Amino acid sequence: MGSIGPQEQDYDVLIVGAGLSGIYSLYNIRKQIPSWRVKVIEAAESVGGTWLWNCYPGARFDSETISYQFSWDKELLQEWNWKDTFSAQPDTLKYIERVCEKHNLYDGIQFNTRVKSAHWQDTDCTWLFIDENSFRYRTRFFVSCMGVLSCPTLPAIPGIKTFEGQAFHTSRWPKDFDMKRDFANKRIGVIGTGATGIQTITETSKEPSIQSLTVFQRTPNWSAPLRNTKITPGQMEKIKMEYDAIFRRCASTPTGFLHQPDPRKTHEVPPEERVELWEKCYAEPGFAKWLGVFSDTYTDREANKLYSDFMADKIRQRVHDPAVADSLIPKNHGFGTRRVPLESGYFEAFNQSNVHLVDLQKTPVETVTPKGILTSDGKEHELDILVYATGFDAITGAFNPIEWHGKDDRPLIGSSDTELGKRAVWLDHRPYTYLGLMIPSFPNMFTVLGPHQPFGNIPRSIENAVQVVTQLLEFCKQENYTFVEATAEAADKWTEHVVECSKGALSNEIDSWMTGVNTNVPGKRVRSVARYGGSAVEYRKRCQQCRAAGWEGFHFA
Ligand code: NAP
Repeated sequence: MGSIGPQEQDYDVLIVGAGLSGIYSLYNIRKQIPSWRVKVIEAAESVGGTWLWNCYPGARFDSETISYQFSWDKELLQEWNWKDTFSAQPDTLKYIERVCEKHNLYDGIQFNTRVKSAHWQDTDCTWLFIDENSFRYRTRFFVSCMGVLSCPTLPAIPGIKTFEGQAFHTSRWPKDFDMKRDFANKRIGVIGTGATGIQTITETSKEPSIQSLTVFQRTPNWSAPLRNTKITPGQMEKIKMEYDAIFRRCASTPTGFLHQPDPRKTHEVPPEERVELWEKCYAEPGFAKWLGVFSDTYTDREANKLYSDFMADKIRQRVHDPAVADSLIPKNHGFGTRRVPLESGYFEAFNQSNVHLVDLQKTPVETVTPKGILTSDGKEHELDILVYATGFDAITGAFNPIEWHGKDDRPLIGSSDTELGKRAVWLDHRPYTYLGLMIPSFPNMFTVLGPHQPFGNIPRSIENAVQVVTQLLEFCKQENYTFVEATAEAADKWTEHVVECSKGALSNEIDSWMTGVNTNVPGKRVRSVARYGGSAVEYRKRCQQCRAAGWEGFHFA
């Protein structure tokens, strides 16, 4: 990119974020509306989003690689040879870079640019964005591609600034890290046991030169084997011939993954036959063990308990010390009611003499000290390196650091006990949207993978959202509309529908990033319905119905 001056830049569409959502938005809008000036701005130094930032050891898909890539470039599907059934982060990043090279996307992306504020301009129906260096970008339309898990959070623990060793969040892993060199003879601590922590811990435990690894676990998570394997050249050729069928299958499942739940209910099936299905799913690679089991597993408490007991036994069989096994088995939520991290030897790591589990439910952290972590039993766990695998201010989090001035100067997010909060559209971080694509009082602004959209298989969700947003933009162009906004009536109905869809799901009774809880973020301690919990098939149908009805629910001018 050429350098930019302090003068204002002018666009038809400004996209923020150059992860999978942003690069596909750039490609698709350019392709469908070639005369428009489209620009992406991105905080990082390169493309990739999640797959650029999260380069911690062990980072890899735990969604099947073959179903987790762009389906729109048939040529690239035939050209690209994946190495693993569950691709490792460096290979995924190479794939994303290849997409950008192949479609000349780099020339539309400005890197190292972080948005500071966004101001709706009523006089000429544009948005004015200002970045951290005070450069200004005026745009008719804005597409937010900022990601659902892009705003890392450090734990709200006293003393974290006092630690004298090296400390970092998993999504800010040091550049040019070399495990053998940088972890040799070190005492490493990891706080957090979500999907990221589980991958980091497992990979670190396998490095023979580390002195020790101490895992600080507040809530155990259910986890089960990933079973990654290499894809042979012969298998890759076969996969290439099956892509149409693979993506057709993804389009037919509730989550966009290849797995379809078994339609039977747990109690309709004799106990031996149940165990047979559970064992079969457990032995299979990937999410079969989460998404391929009986249809009532995540809505019927009893059914969930039976499956959770099966999974708890698997953990007991793998961990030698029964007390450690007991600490690793979740007690406050059933299997699959949080996003299930998949692992490649996580439980066995705790059988090593240099890997220690600190159960924070028994001995909570008191403070981080210059030397390590002090727990309530008076023990100071001395560490050289402290890794925060403590997750993200998810879903609404990426919007949080930006100062928003919507129509009538309305802020986007605010807490109800402040003056600002009383006017905020997402009061107390509770999303209010129409189809998860637009927000009343925020005209000409679209979100890809925003709140109230289905997440599931992320690229499948992204492709649909980008296509719908592009169609809306094309409609505006054809009709010469310079203004589009979701009506309050449509947003009320949609938000109600999203809440309705979440009812009955056991996952909505559990604190997790999916229910909008992050104890490290003020104002995010109460659950909300932040994602579309209905089926992805139903979501796409509703988008198509809206379009067929002349974009019902949107007001154009
Ligand atoms: P996460 O699931 O939110 O986990 C954060 C962890 O940090 C939890 O164990 C949490 O404990 C702990 N924690 C937070 N604050 C703490 C504190 N103050 N004291 C002690 N512990 C604290 O975040 P994540 O692991 O980064 O994963 C987020 C999502 O990213 C995943 O669910 C998944 O969707 C995605 N992801 C995907 C992949 C993949 O595809 N391969 C890999 C990694 C992540 P509590 O549970 O007690 O809050």
